[in-house]
Amino acid sequence: MTIPVNSAAWAGPAHRVVVIGAGFGGLEAARRLGRVPGVAVTVLDRRNHHLFQPLLYQVATAALSLDDIASPVRGILAAESRVEVLMEDVTGIDTHARQVVCHERRVAYDTLVIATGSQPSYFGHDAWEAAAPSLKTLDDALALRQRILTAFEQAAAAEHDAPERDRLLTFVLVGGGPTGVEMAGSIAELARDMLAHDFHRVGGGMRARVVIVEAGPRLLGQFAPGLSARAADDLRGLGVEIRTDTKVTDIQSGTVHLGTEVIRAETIIWTAGVTATPIASWLDVLPAQGGRVQVEPDLRVPEHPGIYVIGDAALALNGVGEPLPGLAPVAKQQGRYVARAIRRRVHGGRAGPSSFSYRDYGTLATIGRGKAVAEFGPVHLRGFMAWVAWAVAHIFFLIGFRNRVLVSAQWMMAYVTHRRGGRVIVQQAPSMPGTGGLNRGCPGLPASRGTPAGCAATAISPSTAVIRCAER
Ligand SMILES: Cc1cc2nc3c(=O)[nH]c(=O)nc-3n(C[C@H](O)[C@H](O)[C@H](O)COP(=O)(O)OP(=O)(O)OC[C@H]3O[C@@H](n4cnc5c(N)ncnc54)[C@H](O)[C@@H]3O)c2cc1C
Repeated sequence: MTIPVNSAAWAGPAHRVVVIGAGFGGLEAARRLGRVPGVAVTVLDRRNHHLFQPLLYQVATAALSLDDIASPVRGILAAESRVEVLMEDVTGIDTHARQVVCHERRVAYDTLVIATGSQPSYFGHDAWEAAAPSLKTLDDALALRQRILTAFEQAAAAEHDAPERDRLLTFVLVGGGPTGVEMAGSIAELARDMLAHDFHRVGGGMRARVVIVEAGPRLLGQFAPGLSARAADDLRGLGVEIRTDTKVTDIQSGTVHLGTEVIRAETIIWTAGVTATPIASWLDVLPAQGGRVQVEPDLRVPEHPGIYVIGDAALALNGVGEPLPGLAPVAKQQGRYVARAIRRRVHGGRAGPSSFSYRDYGTLATIGRGKAVAEFGPVHLRGFMAWVAWAVAHIFFLIGFRNRVLVSAQWMMAYVTHRRGGRVIVQQAPSMPGTGGLNRGCPGLPASRGTPAGCAATAISPSTAVIRCAER
């Protein structure tokens, strides 16, 4: 079935632009194109929301709620009368017929903008995904939050089993980039605050262990060495163990192998790498570095001049021939550039820049409450000043007034009270890969406590069983 693009919104023959992906790049392109007369835009995304991924780890660590960092795409684009939004999972592109294929449906285009982003990469160890999930979607963040909070509850119940308690309260982050660092700091602070407030009456001593493993020589490799060192010091101050120059050799359910050393951990999180979504195969071109599609300086695909690829899915080079990083500002600036280029193609007018050039306004990473590092060219900030810059930048880039107010208010409350609002376990059974549906039915009890009458125990690791009970 072919969908007539935007038939309701446009009377005359319009230039049909289809944008795949309502992330940072696609949304920016669609918003700008929505104001161009003679252009009819259709935005396709498999999700109904735009996600602010840089704050995803805060949902996973109970600092923010899911709707603080996500907004419905239809709502964001509601004011743009030339833009239509369809929640569709794109499965391919028929470049000869100029149609986007979404399973059995097809959407026709004159110009196509692909902004489908990236997905986690396990560097050929796909089996590790089950034991070490990554953080990319709201579902991932919620499942992780459930697992982290449930681990504390299970540890509290394991009062006579110290090794089991230690295992439950061990959190391993694989990858020392910004996501790993931010997540490690946030888990360490969550643990410190929860153990001090929510679990202070639990006997037997509960201690959390947070370990970050990085194959390279330092954390935050893309930052200046002085800032990396400061981030490492701040993490150590929060009690995080840092293992640099250390390769993960295997991951199995509940264990991380670092050569001969084995760490037993209930929660293992993969933050080590991403690869582009598989659009190279859709376009029948050779995938470039990281599975991305190599684009011309004007972001068009050499083999398909009517198709632009932007954001994490594109391999675009900077002025000295280096690949641009997979960052939100790169995607946004490319979305803006492409919208201008399409406007010129449709309307002619003043010639614009024939190649995209990225303007780098700086890089930031936060380590915890009042702790961050920021690099603005030669200007390097650390500590509280960097944290303020980080917070202001993130509030500024969040989509929507409501989200900005909600996130600011929650951060202020958390800063003053040391308490996080999202500590509610909404279901006992995060369907996390590797848990086999942890604790559905009743709170999980350590195997060492025995199986109560009317309950059945299922082993989920060598030392833990989940006990499910009919009615309690
Ligand atoms: C946990 C995490 C933390 C990050 N932190 C930072 C940070 O601090 N600073 C920073 O600058 N960058 C950060 N990034 C990177 C940043 O989020 C990306 O660079 C940016 O999102 C890329 O934008 P994009 O438009 O290319 O793709 P995305 O924003 O990922 O959007 C892609 C969209 O395409 C849709 N899509 C994908 N495949 C299909 C399909 N087949 N059919 C339909 N729709 C599809 C997706 O649903 C999604 O909405 C982070 C990323 C992650 C995962």
